Amino acid sequence: MDIIHDPVKMTAWSNRRIHAGETIALVPTMGYFHEGHLSLMRMAGQHADQVVVSLFVNPLQFGPGEDLDSYPRNFERDCDLAQQNGVHILFVPESKVMYSEDNQTRISVGKLTKNLCGADRPGHFEGVTTVVGKLFHIVKPHYAIFGKKDYQQLAVIRKMAADLNWDVTICGHPIVREQDGLARSSRNTYLNSAMRQSALCLSRAIGLATKRVGEGVYNTRQLRDELRDFISSHPGTAIDYISFVDYQTLENKSKVDQDTLLALAVNIDNKVRLIDNSMMFKQDN
Ligand code: AMP
Repeated sequence: MDIIHDPVKMTAWSNRRIHAGETIALVPTMGYFHEGHLSLMRMAGQHADQVVVSLFVNPLQFGPGEDLDSYPRNFERDCDLAQQNGVHILFVPESKVMYSEDNQTRISVGKLTKNLCGADRPGHFEGVTTVVGKLFHIVKPHYAIFGKKDYQQLAVIRKMAADLNWDVTICGHPIVREQDGLARSSRNTYLNSAMRQSALCLSRAIGLATKRVGEGVYNTRQLRDELRDFISSHPGTAIDYISFVDYQTLENKSKVDQDTLLALAVNIDNKVRLIDNSMMFKQDN
């Protein structure tokens, strides 16, 4: 595995691979790898000849007061893990190279970014789409792999790629969980053992919703009330949203049907914001 810092060198490498008739899969990440990231890397290897993983803690997608400075980092460990999981290039650009002092351009997706995490984190998705757009130009991937844990992010990037005629296939990877159900996240490292226990409320709330839907409860207002009570019974939890939405438009639904996705965001001890989601019927989406 090689490490490339310079975007110009990254593009030159990609051009050589493309001229040699090879395909490239890109996995954009912010590092501090866990099994979720590693599964995406392995999926990338199944799609393409060359696997590029970008490691960039993107300042543009963090709001004021969010954890940009304290975001967990361990470059040596990340290099080892990437190498062990079939990555050919780890692309690690510097912030000042990605964003010149006079940068003025943003990619902004409309309606899909307005609810769920977009409502709580203004500017977040514009930061995500801008950096992913830049990565697509720099790396020129045929495939790009994103996790369904960040479901709205995946939907927004699909829309961006379609609206801007990007010739890249966007692949979604299922959520990778700990044995007890907690969705893997770099931010789980912030959880002490009491918080870790409360964090289980997200995956368990999904389990409860699935069970209630199985019992014939389709009214989302009633389901939301039950989930709110359930989540609030866990110490230190503050709910950002409990939303039943259409899995494509992300618009709120009043009744659960085949197209319904449940999306949750919960703050633990006002320190760690966790998200999770699941389709209510279909296993994949
Ligand atoms: P991050 O480093 O948190 O920006 O995540 C990089 C990529 O890994 C994103 O596409 C995430 O959706 C994906 N990812 C993170 N955690 C998980 C997980 N538990 N399961 C599946 N994908 C994940």
